[in-house]
Amino acid sequence: MIIDSHCHLFVEDWINKRWWDGMARRAVLTAKKIGIEATPEDIRTTIIPEYWDPTAEKLIQEADEAGIDKTVMLVQDFGVGIGEAKVSIEEQNKSHADIAKAHPDKLIAFAGVDPRREGAVDLFEKCITEWGMKGLKLHSGAGFFLDDKVVYPLYEKALELNVPVVAHTGPILAPLRSKYCHPISLDNVLTDFPDLTVIAAHVSEGWWRDAIAIAASNPNMFVDISGWEEVVPFPEKYCISLREIIDEVGSDRVLFGTDGPSYRTPCPPIEYVKFVKGLPENAVGGVEFTAEEIEAILGGNAQRILKL
Ligand SMILES: [Zn+2]
Repeated sequence: MIIDSHCHLFVEDWINKRWWDGMARRAVLTAKKIGIEATPEDIRTTIIPEYWDPTAEKLIQEADEAGIDKTVMLVQDFGVGIGEAKVSIEEQNKSHADIAKAHPDKLIAFAGVDPRREGAVDLFEKCITEWGMKGLKLHSGAGFFLDDKVVYPLYEKALELNVPVVAHTGPILAPLRSKYCHPISLDNVLTDFPDLTVIAAHVSEGWWRDAIAIAASNPNMFVDISGWEEVVPFPEKYCISLREIIDEVGSDRVLFGTDGPSYRTPCPPIEYVKFVKGLPENAVGGVEFTAEEIEAILGGNAQRILKL
């Protein structure tokens, strides 16, 4: 089974305009790394609107093409930090839950709520117990540290409801703030909630060595390799890094993910799945991967965490 453990539905009115502008600015840099020149305006007017997918129709089609059996959709709550979206966070959570319910064999929804919101814990609880969502996504780039005591009631609730927490980690595009996203801020959380399953998204990207150092001593920490599509054009770098991640964390705590649709243009899910699936045969850089390791990463680990 292949599980995309980290994906999003993008809808213009679900995030403040400042974020779409920031995304376009960052995409210019990503494009440049693979030799494509573009302006933020090009990306803002041509590529980003293509990502909007209010019914998950595009997501499902892409997942089907890539051979992904199940996709976890994570709600992103940036409103407190960068300005509210046109659609409330409660409505966004409900929409994700409804979409997952309409495609129970393919889609799973995780709630997203900023811990600083009034009634955050109640909304999160409603998402899980009434709307059937399966976990919590935290995006601290909106302006809080993951180990701030303001977040603790959400961790306590996640533990009580027995669901995993995905935390964005790694440098993040403006207007979100990277300083809140370093994986060291998970250290207190992992220590104070040793029974809580915490997934550090993107293996913290540029801070991946810090992330795996923390994961190495905290068995309740997992990492997902979403966003690493950016490294696929550099297969030697990808293979050496992933080998180091597995050696440090263990192949049983690494999860596949795409962070779709953000990386659709440089590396669509079909390409990323093909790349990771082919690692036992095609690894370069003097490292090797076993079929069992890759199978666990592509789906077995997520299957266990999500109790599928
Ligand atoms: Zn994401």
